[in-house]
Amino acid sequence: MDNPENVLIIGSGIAGMEASLMLSKAGKKVYLVENLPIIGGKIIKNEESFPNMECSTCLVAPIQQEILQDANIEVLTLSTVEKIAGKPGDFKITVRKKARYVSLEACLGCGACYPVCPVVLKNEWEENLMDKKAIYVPCSGSLPNVPAIDASECLHLNGKDKSCNKCVEACMFGAIDFSQKDEELKLDVTGIIVATGFELINGQALENLGYGKYPGVYTAFEFERLFASNGPTEGKLFLRDSENTPDSVAIVHCVGRDEVGYCSNVCCMSSSKHARFIKHNLHDAKIYNIYSDICLPDKSYQKFFDETKSHDSEFIFQSDRKKMKITKKDGKLEVSYFNGKETKESILVDMVILANALRPSDTIEELTKALEIKRDSFGFIETEPSKLGSVETSRPGIFVAGCAEGPKDIQGSVIQSEAAVAGILSLLDQ
Ligand SMILES: Cc1cc2nc3c(=O)[nH]c(=O)nc-3n(C[C@H](O)[C@H](O)[C@H](O)COP(=O)(O)OP(=O)(O)OC[C@H]3O[C@@H](n4cnc5c(N)ncnc54)[C@H](O)[C@@H]3O)c2cc1C
Ligand code: SF4
Ligand code: SF4
Repeated sequence: MDNPENVLIIGSGIAGMEASLMLSKAGKKVYLVENLPIIGGKIIKNEESFPNMECSTCLVAPIQQEILQDANIEVLTLSTVEKIAGKPGDFKITVRKKARYVSLEACLGCGACYPVCPVVLKNEWEENLMDKKAIYVPCSGSLPNVPAIDASECLHLNGKDKSCNKCVEACMFGAIDFSQKDEELKLDVTGIIVATGFELINGQALENLGYGKYPGVYTAFEFERLFASNGPTEGKLFLRDSENTPDSVAIVHCVGRDEVGYCSNVCCMSSSKHARFIKHNLHDAKIYNIYSDICLPDKSYQKFFDETKSHDSEFIFQSDRKKMKITKKDGKLEVSYFNGKETKESILVDMVILANALRPSDTIEELTKALEIKRDSFGFIETEPSKLGSVETSRPGIFVAGCAEGPKDIQGSVIQSEAAVAGILSLLDQ
C-alpha cells in the first residue's frame, strides 16, 4: 500500500468533519467521502443551534473552510463507497465519484449560470420549499460554493436538447465541463470511520397528523429552513400557502416515536428552540408545546427548557400520542389530544410543527452491505456489544461516529468522533 497512514471517513456532517480535522492534525492523510455536492451535513440546515443559540453558519463555516483548505484532507463530494476488501491496516476501497460537470478549480461561485437554466426542479435539500435549476447549489452559502449539474435533468446531458448551452454561455470563467465522466477510485486505507448521520421519518405517523394534506403542517426540518436567513423565505415565518405569518403555533413532540421504538434525543430541545425563535420574531404569537415525555440529556438543557417554558411557550401534556388528531376547523388547524385526566381537549392554531423522529440515513442499508458491518434492531450501525460505549463496529478497523450510530446532538456526535479517532490512532500504532 502507498501510505500506511491513510484513513477513510464516510459522511461530512459535524461528526465526519471533526474526525477529519483531528486526524489531519495528527499528520494522517484523510479521504472524506460525501454523497452530496457539498459538505457540512444537517447542521447547516439550522439557523441557530441549541443550547447557546449560536449562529450555526458561524459555527460550521470555519470548519468547512478549514477542511477544504487542509492539504491532508482530500474531499470527495458526489461520492459513495461501493466495495471494500482487505483487513484492518490494509483495506482496499472502491469509491464511485459522480461527475459534477463544473470545474472546482475554474468556478468562482458567481451564480450567473443558475438563472439562465430552463429546467426548474424541486429543491429537496430545501425540503421542497423552493425550486432549483438543473445546475444548482443546494442552498446559498454552500461549500464548496461550486454548482453541480444534475445529469438526469440537464437537457444537454440527457439528450433532450443537445443544443442547450445556456449555462456555458453565461459562465465567464469557462467552468462548465460536459466532458467530465463518473470515476471509479481505488483507495488504500488503514481504518475507516462511518459518519453518515440521519434523516427524519416521513411515513404514516406524519400522514395521520395531516402532513401533506394541510399546508399549515410542517416537519421540523421544514421549519428549520423557514427560520434560516439563507432559506426559502430568508428567515421570515410566512405560512406555506399565503404571505401571512401565524398567530398561533402548536409544536408536537415525539412524532413517530411509537413507530420507531426509541426516543430521538434532540427533539425536545429542537422544539424548545423553535418556540424561542417564534416568540423572538412574532412576539404576540401563542405557542403550545404538546408533549408526552421530556428528554433533556445534558446538564445545560434544563435551564434552556425552563426558560422556554416560562417565557415562550405553554406546555401541554398529552397522555396518548396515538390518539392525537389534526383536522381543519374554521379556517384553522384543530389539534385534538387527550390530557393527563384522559379527557379530550383541542386547540385551534395556524401552524403545526411536527418534531418527527430521527431515523438512519437513506444510504445505510447499501453502505453497511458494502462494508460488511452489522446494523442494530433500529437500523442504525451496531457497535460492538461486548465493549461499553464503544464506537467499534462489528468489523475490526471500522468505527462509527455521530447519528449513524443513533440520534444525538452536536456535542454527542463530536464526542464520538473523538473516540473513533482514538480508535483509529491506536490501530495505526499497531
Ligand atoms: C430539527 C433538528 C434540529 C436540530 N438542532 C440541533 C441544535 O440546535 N443543536 C444540536 O446540538 N443538535 C441539533 N440537532 C441534531 C444535529 O442535527 C445532529 O447532532 C448532527 O447533525 C449529527 O451530525 P452527523 O455528522 O452525525 O450527521 P449528519 O449531519 O446527518 O451528516 C451526515 C453526512 O453524511 C452524508 N452521507 C450520508 N450517507 C452517505 C454515504 N453513503 N456516503 C457518503 N456520505 C453520506 C450526508 O449527506 C451528510 O452530509 C438537530 C436535529 C434536528 C432533527
Ligand atoms: S459555473 Fe461559472 S457561472 Fe456558474 S457559478 Fe461557477 S463561475 Fe459562476
Ligand atoms: S446545459 Fe442547459 S439544461 Fe443543462 S444545466 Fe446548462 S442551462 Fe441547464
